[in-house]
Amino acid sequence: MIETHMLSADVVVVGGGLSGVASAIAAARLGARTILVHDRPMLGGNTSSEIRVHAGGADRSGARPHCRESGIMDEIRLEEAARNPQRCAQMWDLILYEKCLQEPNLSLYLNTTCVAAHVRPAETDSQTSVDEPLPSAERAAAAVLRNPQSQIEHIEATRESTEDRFIIRGRFFVDCTGDGRLSVQSGAQWRHGREGPDEYGEPHAQGPDNRTMGASLMWVAEDVGVPVPFTAPSFARKFTDDDLPHRKHIDLDHGYWWIEYGGELDTVKDKEAIRDELMACLMGVWDHVKNGGRHGADNWVLKWFGWLPGHRESRRIIGDLVLTENDLMNSVLFEDRVAHGGWPMDTHPPGGIYSSEPPATFLQMPDIYSIPLRALYSRDVGNLFMAGRCASCTHMAMSSTRLAATGAVMGQAVGTAAAMCCARDCTPRELVQHHIHDLQQQLLRDDQYIIDLPAEDPDDLTRGASVAASSESVGCESHKLLDGVTRMRHGDTHQWASDLQQAMPQWLEIKLPSVREVSQIHLTFDSGFSRPLALTHQDSFNARMFRGPQPETVSDYVIEFGSGGTLTELVRETGNYQRKRVHHIAPVTADTVRITIHRTNGDPSARIYEVRMYA
Ligand SMILES: Cc1cc2nc3c(=O)[nH]c(=O)nc-3n(C[C@H](O)[C@H](O)[C@H](O)COP(=O)(O)OP(=O)(O)OC[C@H]3O[C@@H](n4cnc5c(N)ncnc54)[C@H](O)[C@@H]3O)c2cc1C
Repeated sequence: MIETHMLSADVVVVGGGLSGVASAIAAARLGARTILVHDRPMLGGNTSSEIRVHAGGADRSGARPHCRESGIMDEIRLEEAARNPQRCAQMWDLILYEKCLQEPNLSLYLNTTCVAAHVRPAETDSQTSVDEPLPSAERAAAAVLRNPQSQIEHIEATRESTEDRFIIRGRFFVDCTGDGRLSVQSGAQWRHGREGPDEYGEPHAQGPDNRTMGASLMWVAEDVGVPVPFTAPSFARKFTDDDLPHRKHIDLDHGYWWIEYGGELDTVKDKEAIRDELMACLMGVWDHVKNGGRHGADNWVLKWFGWLPGHRESRRIIGDLVLTENDLMNSVLFEDRVAHGGWPMDTHPPGGIYSSEPPATFLQMPDIYSIPLRALYSRDVGNLFMAGRCASCTHMAMSSTRLAATGAVMGQAVGTAAAMCCARDCTPRELVQHHIHDLQQQLLRDDQYIIDLPAEDPDDLTRGASVAASSESVGCESHKLLDGVTRMRHGDTHQWASDLQQAMPQWLEIKLPSVREVSQIHLTFDSGFSRPLALTHQDSFNARMFRGPQPETVSDYVIEFGSGGTLTELVRETGNYQRKRVHHIAPVTADTVRITIHRTNGDPSARIYEVRMYA
């Protein structure tokens, strides 16, 4: 018996991959009543335990040190690394789930699919409905709404397992579905396939055509120490080494991303056919390594393999700005930058495993690049944001921005922006025009990285303060705590580090310009951005990480507040492994704050990037 439930929220996020999770958490933390609608039982999208792609990003798996994502993304990574040294895939899902449950303003609807959107053009009171189930791409492209003022009024979602239907009203909506499903339903303009070089002047554009990168099924395998036979299913494809040019199949522990298919088909309509072919290919490749000659696979067994393909590319929603290859190559510093990326442009031949071309072509940019807010909201639906694979990019730019952690930082940016739009009663476009500085400062306060934009928060009581320390390392002097930058950049450490020859405890003392009432202190520690950090099932990549609390991170510390030479201990913390810590205290008047570090998670120096204080 189908029941209909009426829900409402300030911000409605559809799609619970990393971009959607970060978006929903960011909006909820800023006080927006947020609903996250996700069609699977676990969060994480391509990174979830049912697909098992590891979350990479701007640091190029460690090849570009100090560029790792901070903010919500690092918080999730650090939590997972500390609590999941055993690398259980479902623990990743669990951490994402817990992070969402911990937000009082966030309501999570799992196993719930957004199937329709109801849109109101601004000039008239009449309501335009585009709520037919699964409209064709053609219908959506021709959809009514090219009015810059049109607004999504509510979405419709169904949870088939409980025979429930939800009508969800919202002020702002965020499309993190990967397929752009919400945008299509709301008639937003979108793009699919590859641009030609003339369209945006991209030297490496590979179209124009409607082809994309394909999807993949992954596996996890193990050496059990004794020979174990493998009998391929009857439908498995047959492969020889000659059929797999450029496709190394030496490491057996983690399935091959190049088992890729579907780039020449309809990304949405052919999903079932793509899955069937991928399963036949996965079994065929495993059959080849087990039974097709010397691959050292006799003792190896499949421990897990996916049934749900990870999709790389689908519809991209058109924003006020379309990010291009040239923007990435030239590291354009957009005025409205709110996130960063840095993975090379990584395009794959649409033919996937059946292509004779190399399975990926990498186009490296010299530096990390910025992502502007204008690429993260629809240009024609006034209250629609998007993040992750749906962002407004050309195919070339998307081949870099599609990285999971890059999606997460876009998600944090749009979740924050959506909450600010609610608070200021403005559209995303007006936010860019009138409030971008405030948005950027809020993001920095929440530990999002914005390239070469230092923090200058007028509410931060440490502005104009002076700092003294028990000891310092050369290049890591204590005054750097207050320079507004929270990672190594352009050769400057931007952190205080105590002299590694001197034992703990080490302390810092901050003197405010005058006695002030303090009720919050924010600390940004070092969480080892010189290394990559991800849950990966690939042993060789995992070997480059610390699975546990990161050694550089301060573990045990005490904070005292006071004035006139008398200090009172108000914070005592042990066992910390997070980079950003915010302590709320009962308001106290103080002009002096002393932070004493008693222990790190292994590093001989105490390291802090930033201290902020708020009334
Ligand atoms: C095989 C493969 C290997 C890759 N390798 C890497 C890698 O090594 N490192 C890396 O960082 N990235 C990698 N990527 C890319 C990366 O995984 C994705 O681009 C990234 O996860 C996208 O995140 P997202 O949040 O935008 O979308 P997704 O992770 O796709 O999440 C979107 C979610 O929305 C849900 N959804 C869709 N429609 C609806 C609806 N109507 N209602 C409710 N929910 C809906 C979907 O179920 C999905 O879970 C790889 C991708 C693939 C496929």
